[in-house]
Amino acid sequence: MAKASYTLRNGRVYVHEKCQQPTQVNGGDFEGLCNPFNLCLGTVCAHCGGPRALRTFHWADTGEQLDDYRRRLRTKVPPIYSWWYLWISPLIGLIAGTIIGPLFLNNSSLPVAAGSALVGTLIMYLIIGPKLLMLIAPKKYYQLR
Ligand SMILES: [Zn+2]
Repeated sequence: MAKASYTLRNGRVYVHEKCQQPTQVNGGDFEGLCNPFNLCLGTVCAHCGGPRALRTFHWADTGEQLDDYRRRLRTKVPPIYSWWYLWISPLIGLIAGTIIGPLFLNNSSLPVAAGSALVGTLIMYLIIGPKLLMLIAPKKYYQLR
């Protein structure tokens, strides 16, 4: 596998398969798009807008579809990352939500506890878990071809 030299500043170009037009992605969007643990359901085409599904785009230089790319990157990291993403971080959110919600609302009824447990789980799964993973991960995903 060739060593790529992608940078956040220059980013990378993907092509929308429907209109065959290139879009350059860089900065935080690029980093987020390449982080397989960051929830990303679609991206935009500079030519015809969006967001559209990742599988309708491919990298201009390698031809790999964006969803295949993200799936492949996910298999290349230590399993602890996947465990953290899928189980540990949501579980922390679940426990924290169960405790914090009723305390904060001064109401420990079951619906309140269950609701805040759900909110805690979602926040950890969708936002905080991936962000922490980005901070501790030794790999800069966007640099991988
Ligand atoms: Zn397009």
